[in-house]
Amino acid sequence: MAKQKMPQQVYCKNCINNFEAIARISFLGFRKFRCPKCQQNVVWPLSGGFLFVYWIVISGAIVFRFASTGGPLQMINLFDLFALGALAALVMNYFLKQRMNK
Ligand SMILES: [Zn+2]
Repeated sequence: MAKQKMPQQVYCKNCINNFEAIARISFLGFRKFRCPKCQQNVVWPLSGGFLFVYWIVISGAIVFRFASTGGPLQMINLFDLFALGALAALVMNYFLKQRMNK
């Protein structure tokens, strides 16, 4: 966690500018930087640690659903909400990566 307080080299595609900035961690764990030149937000895909935790959360929710007495068709529980958040993060991450590879 201490590592994230360090300024990082960021490349802004919008104005083709390299700058150093300290990341702000968004709600789902994405690292956000603001370009000092054009004020555009630069968002980085998730690091491996976050991805791992999200997959654990999703599979945990699925396992809980099938293992608990309610069965697979039970009402939405707290695990599902966490899993939905994790799934949203993974989908966002997927699109971020696609955009970065262009
Ligand atoms: Zn910029």
